[in-house]
Amino acid sequence: MSASFRKGSFIGWTRFQHGDFQCTVVTDGPLKIGPPANGFPKADPNEIKALLTAAFLPTDSTTLNQNLLIVNTGESLVLFDTGCGVNQSFGKSSFGPQVGPDIGRAISNMRATGIDPEDIDLVAITHAHPDHCWGLVDDTGNRLYPNAKIAISATDYDYWTDLSHIPEAPTQHKKDAFSGAHYNLLPYRDHLVFVKDGKQVVPGITAHAAIGHSPGHHIYAIESRGET
Ligand SMILES: [Zn+2]
Repeated sequence: MSASFRKGSFIGWTRFQHGDFQCTVVTDGPLKIGPPANGFPKADPNEIKALLTAAFLPTDSTTLNQNLLIVNTGESLVLFDTGCGVNQSFGKSSFGPQVGPDIGRAISNMRATGIDPEDIDLVAITHAHPDHCWGLVDDTGNRLYPNAKIAISATDYDYWTDLSHIPEAPTQHKKDAFSGAHYNLLPYRDHLVFVKDGKQVVPGITAHAAIGHSPGHHIYAIESRGET
């Protein structure tokens, strides 16, 4: 351990090569979502406990690691999802006080890697849940990726930005899911690319439908020099 390494500090990014593509992963910080039963209400609590114990993780709370992939294809700089972001009224308050001060670090970690958010050409959104799209704008609603297009399915865009769902949403957190998606995605409404199953978004990156977790959830296959 080097002398400069402090207990509790961490490096917020890593980099690797995938074919000809340079890949960088930055963290937006750990998202603590409280007791496991909140996030996985239909799962057997004993099974959750056994899985967490086997992975040397605490059993009283769940942490989602918000790791964001940035792929430099040589032609395009593509960010996949955004983390919960910096907005106090969404990213932090919606998940409650247990979230702590550690989220909303994507932009500073990105800059630490030498990547300027202004240079991102495309933000490829898998689905419009809070930890995937709430980092698109800053605290005042300005686009954090001012030169980027946003790739998302029309189904997810239409569903999650439709504020008429709010009255019937059963919890404040679910209501926030609609208002937060609306707040983050509407500033990009003239910069959208609607993804379709099996269609390329940029050379080497193809969207595939993975519907279920969200109405229009898509995943992305990243292929370079025979590696996928
Ligand atoms: Zn989700």
